[in-house]
Formats: sequence, C-alpha cells, structure tokens
Amino acid sequence: IVRAEGIRHAYGRTEVLKGIDFQVEAGEVVCMIGPSGSGKSTLLRCVNHLERISSGRLWVDGHLVGYRQKGTRLYELSDKDICRRRADVGMVFQQFNLFPHMTVLENLIEAPCRVRREPKNAVMERAHDLLRQVGLADKHGAYPAQLSGGQQQRVAIARALSMRPKLMLFDEPTSALDPELVGDVLDVMRALARSGMTMIVVTHEIGFARDVADRVMFLDDGRIVETGPADQVISHPQHARTQAFLAAVR
Ligand code: ATP
Ligand code: MG
Repeated sequence: IVRAEGIRHAYGRTEVLKGIDFQVEAGEVVCMIGPSGSGKSTLLRCVNHLERISSGRLWVDGHLVGYRQKGTRLYELSDKDICRRRADVGMVFQQFNLFPHMTVLENLIEAPCRVRREPKNAVMERAHDLLRQVGLADKHGAYPAQLSGGQQQRVAIARALSMRPKLMLFDEPTSALDPELVGDVLDVMRALARSGMTMIVVTHEIGFARDVADRVMFLDDGRIVETGPADQVISHPQHARTQAFLAAVR
C-alpha cells in the first residue's frame, strides 16, 4: 500500500532523507526506530503529503504522492486533490492536537461530516463505536482539557479512525505521556494492529515494536540502515549502529 523508491527530502540545503526505499503491504505493521534527527518524522510527513520530496517516487494506495499521472505525463496535484488523498491516511502525533473548543464527539464527527460529507447519523453511530473501541464510551461529552493525556491520545486515535483510513501513521504517540498512561494507548494500538489495520509507527517503545510489528526499520542519518522481522532487528541486529542504538535505549 506504500512504496518508496529513492526518496530524498531537504529542509533548505540540509538533506535529511538521503535516498529511502521501502514498502509496506496492506495489513502490515511497520515500526520505525532511530535516533533523534534521523528523519523519522520527516518520512511520515512525506507519506502524508505534509512535506514534498525533492526526488524519488512515493506511492500511497496506488497513487503517486503529489502528482496525478496521465499516460506518461505527471501533473502536480491541486491543494484540493491533496486534501482528498490525505483523507485516506490517518495520522496521530506526539501532541494530541484535538480541537480544544469541541467535545470529544464533535472532534470525531467533524472531518467525516465536513470533508467526506457523510450523513450525520451514520457518522455519529460510528463515532460512538470508536469511542467504545478505545475505552472512552462515557467521555463523548467531555472537552479535551477535562481528559488525561492518555485519554486525549485515545480520542486522537479514534478521530483518525473516524475517517476510515486505509493507512494509519503514528509519530511517537506515547512520548508525551506520563509513564502510567502509556499502556492504555499501546493496548489500543495493539488491538488496532490485530484488527488488520496497516500501520507505520515511529516509537521508542522497543517492547511494543517487538510484540506488534511485522517489520522494524532502523533509520539513521536519513537512511534505512537495517530492516527486517521485528525479532531479527531488535534481538539480533546486524549493523553496528543498530546495536549501539538499541543498547542505548534499553
Ligand atoms: P526525533 O526522534 O527527535 O523526533 P526525527 O527522526 O523525527 O527525530 P526529523 O524530525 O524528521 O527527525 O528531523 C530530521 C532532521 O531535519 C533534523 O536534523 C531536524 O533538525 C531537521 N528538521 C526537521 N524539521 C525541520 C524544519 N521544519 N525545518 C528545518 N529543519 C528541520
Ligand atoms: Mg520525530
């Protein structure tokens, strides 16, 4: 469902993705690990049309990111088309980014009603189901500020799911949480993985990566240094830089 061929990205003159190739199959869970500044967030942002790649090709769900293909010619996408494509990809950030002036339920129904123009009844029903799924059925009327960080992050996951995405991206979803709140969020993600959702997860939770990921990618300095089955990369890393990183985070 995702395919990257030689993608590069630079902020100004500083190149931070230096030729990345990878593939994610439908239903696969890929965890991305690597030191701070290695380009993990930038890579996720490219997949979600939040950054523009400077070379290489990136496909999401069969569409070339940023372009429309007609025969052999490529046309840049309009902002409206980008919005439409982005609607198929759910993203959850370290900071929960909920709409503070809306209740939990309003947060969930906003995008499906406005972007997808789905009928409100169906959207409401799905929203309540999703809140049950993340263990917050009774919080639909609460405002974000009335919830704990862990609860807010679970609402953020439910909100992303309310768009019925084909792919979910997580960027260190538990890094801003107090340690005792991390478990509930990881449990929700674990259940989502088991349900067959395609997921790319940037995380420092090595245990989670080992349990849940089909594959782990280790990124360093804008390149994929090592990738393979979770057990292999985490328990038997081949590359010295992967070994050093894992030794430091354990
Ligand atoms: P972390 O683990 O700290 O989140 P990361 O692997 O997600 O790190 P990125 O956020 O992708 O790393 O950043 C990669 C590099 O690009 C870093 O050197 C960072 O300083 C730089 N960078 C990130 N965002 C910008 C930006 N908006 N403008 C300029 N440089 C940026
Ligand atoms: Mg990051």
